[in-house]
Amino acid sequence: MGASADEPSASAQPKPSRSQRHWKPSRFNVQAITDEGWLLLWNTYTGSLNAFRPAQREPVLELISQKGVSSDGGGITGYLAKRGYLIPKEADELRRVQYAFGQENHRNDILELILLASEDCNFRCTYCYEDFKRGTMRPGVRASIKKLVESRVRTMRELTVNWFGGEPLYGLEAIEDLAPFFAETAEREGLKYFSHMTTNGYLLTEDVAARLLSWRITDFQITLDGLPEHHNQHRPGRDGSGTYQTIYDNLVKLSERDDDFSVVIRVNFAKSNADGLEAFLHSLQEKFSNDDRFTVSFHAVGRWGGDNDANLDVCGKDEAHATHMRLKAAARSLGLRVTSGWRPGVGVGTQVCYAVRPYNFIVGAHGDLMKCTIDLNKKDRNIVGKLLPDGTLDLNTDKMALWTEPAFERDTGCQSCHMLPACQGVHCPQIRMDHGQRPCPSIRFTAKREMVDYFKAKQDGTSSAVAASAPPVRIGGRE
Ligand code: SF4
Ligand code: SF4
Repeated sequence: MGASADEPSASAQPKPSRSQRHWKPSRFNVQAITDEGWLLLWNTYTGSLNAFRPAQREPVLELISQKGVSSDGGGITGYLAKRGYLIPKEADELRRVQYAFGQENHRNDILELILLASEDCNFRCTYCYEDFKRGTMRPGVRASIKKLVESRVRTMRELTVNWFGGEPLYGLEAIEDLAPFFAETAEREGLKYFSHMTTNGYLLTEDVAARLLSWRITDFQITLDGLPEHHNQHRPGRDGSGTYQTIYDNLVKLSERDDDFSVVIRVNFAKSNADGLEAFLHSLQEKFSNDDRFTVSFHAVGRWGGDNDANLDVCGKDEAHATHMRLKAAARSLGLRVTSGWRPGVGVGTQVCYAVRPYNFIVGAHGDLMKCTIDLNKKDRNIVGKLLPDGTLDLNTDKMALWTEPAFERDTGCQSCHMLPACQGVHCPQIRMDHGQRPCPSIRFTAKREMVDYFKAKQDGTSSAVAASAPPVRIGGRE
């Protein structure tokens, strides 16, 4: 953890030659104290995390107390300022967040595409919210996507492509056409390039995996909902057959490769499978616990808008939270890496949904442009435009404004929240639209506990049990 390595002594004296300045604590500081008395500090704007030894705790707490401090900016005060825990007395932190939101949302050097290679799927999961009405991405849409990318290369520095569906590998034809094009364009133009796929894993055979990796699709999310008796109930094939064994075998084959890639094994839990999941984690231990490329991620099933919503045995909020914490602890104890809602580096903008970014678009199989991967084309508000044959985006201004607004500017509750920099009131704009509620990310409520867990894992030398970075995209569910 950063500070234990390079922090100056808490008793360091300021150098007399510099002029004095007044400092106040950032209101975005979060503090937790471990059982052994370490002080853990996190700042939700800078993303800094520091651990201060028990002997340093009181002097540091004194420096970041409400009364503020005058200092020339050297020594421990300077260090705390550098990390963002102390800020100049005159700083306006709300304005800082407004500036950061504007800076990010006005970027024109980045393009993020979520491509629905196939809107149909070979599975019929019980909690699925998709309607499967469209098939593989049309060739004309693929040609338009290439034109869009080509038209942007002169200004673009970053390109992100997320393959989604339906089941994207059901539309392999579209991937074969576009993925090599993206990889070659990124190489030729020197773009920062990242490509992810959310797949059910059934069609991810050795041959397909080799091809995807050669096209620089190196990050995957694959779902297993427990042992076969549970998984096959939740996630049957479209003909009702079991799918567990094929997915598991494909994952094992993937793990036998030497390539550099990452896989999040997503586990959705509801009342019906939650109790059997510890046994399932044991079954993952042998093949995946010593492989840093694999991470397990737990998610409570929600009523996401599908036809089956009324029949789902979803966990209540408290039950979901308790199950989540229990499963994470169980996975860590088995040496499995787990994604954490909290991690070092969670700072400004990191909890904002991708739908809020004006440079992020879902492109449907027929060329519809959409924002939210849950709404998809079920809600008119989400179809924000059309990709035209020449590669231009024909956008509806009001719908774009709806998804990309800085909601915190109209919400005094958000404005006074310590999570504001990271979440900006738009962790999930859909929740705000549908329910008029603040869409707080779970780390608003669990951060202290998760900071302590992370620190303990570091101290125990089992930090690999905590994923250093969460997957860069959250597709297919709010959290
Ligand atoms: S976080 Fe909310 S707005 Fe964003 S994609 Fe998910 S459901 Fe849609
Ligand atoms: S939505 Fe919740 S966590 Fe986010 S800024 Fe508003 S109050 Fe804070």
